[in-house]
Amino acid sequence: MAARQPRKSAGGARPRAGRPPVSVVTGGAGFLGSHLVDLLLDRGHKVLAIDNLVTGKIENLAHLAGRADFRFVKQDVTEYLFLAGPVDYVWHFASPASPVDYRELPIQTLKVGSLGTHKALGLAKHKGARFLLASTSEVYGDPLEHPQTEAYWGHVNPIGPRGCYDEAKRFAEALTVAYQREHRIPTRIVRIFNTYGPRMRMRDGRVVPAFIGQALAHRPITVYGDGSQTRSFCYCSDLIDGIYRLMMGTHPGPMNIGNPHELTVLEFAREILKATGSRSRIVFKPLPKDDPRQRQPDIALARARLKWEPKVALAEGLRRTIDFFRAGGRVSG
Ligand code: UDP
Repeated sequence: MAARQPRKSAGGARPRAGRPPVSVVTGGAGFLGSHLVDLLLDRGHKVLAIDNLVTGKIENLAHLAGRADFRFVKQDVTEYLFLAGPVDYVWHFASPASPVDYRELPIQTLKVGSLGTHKALGLAKHKGARFLLASTSEVYGDPLEHPQTEAYWGHVNPIGPRGCYDEAKRFAEALTVAYQREHRIPTRIVRIFNTYGPRMRMRDGRVVPAFIGQALAHRPITVYGDGSQTRSFCYCSDLIDGIYRLMMGTHPGPMNIGNPHELTVLEFAREILKATGSRSRIVFKPLPKDDPRQRQPDIALARARLKWEPKVALAEGLRRTIDFFRAGGRVSG
């Protein structure tokens, strides 16, 4: 067997002779992927977005049509990725990301987290690019430690309704670390906590669009269980800023990025009523199986290493998100 040649140090970025950095974003037509594409273009990157449009929407990228520094390729990232030319950064965001989506698409969710991550890592290795995995707070499952630090190993039911997503992302983290160790490619892992903002799909089943949609139509707000379970919601621009800093910094992660402001789902329902001025009443529905009881990121690591913390308060983030849904969910650049 031939001796393995280390390609470069795990923290290294490839040298570029007088050309802009080139980024590939898988899941680039999705909620977060498309916001990342916008930020990268703002920072002077050339960007290629890849998406099979199963849960992503081309409308999220429509405002970029005709730009010379942007290209979209409709492809499933579980298939071989051939791209000509240099690539400096691979941002792997492709995956269904709502509990309703991964209940309806369990095999695709497992495939994009496993085979898709393998292809995206293979691309990064071939191009000598730096790789970032969009992982998730779901690797902590229904956590027994609170708040969750990166050192916590999690409490996941592999065969429950969320197992396809949680285990795919856990596998993706393991594969990312294996590529870093064996192939010496520079990698980053971000664990993303609940995030919201414009470009979420009204009917993706997640609590933010669900409650806003119900409130705007003055239909009942469906709180699952007794609403005492907690979540901590981060506005999308804060999240993308943190992720950009992680990629450009030297810490490989895993690193939590999220907003530590925790509230119960019932409190959140009341915030939505207040922010929309809705006449909706609150109704209680059965709690889905394995719904995490408590979730709050410990962001001490991101504060220390990235000098990052969220800036957009819930009331302001909700106002922008509600405006988006009021305008019919139309995307502007
Ligand atoms: N939820 C709810 N009503 C809804 C949708 C969701 O009460 O119509 C709850 C859900 O049970 C969970 C929380 O809101 O406790 C967040 O759910 P979401 O699907 O947004 O994502 P999760 O954080 O569970 O991955």
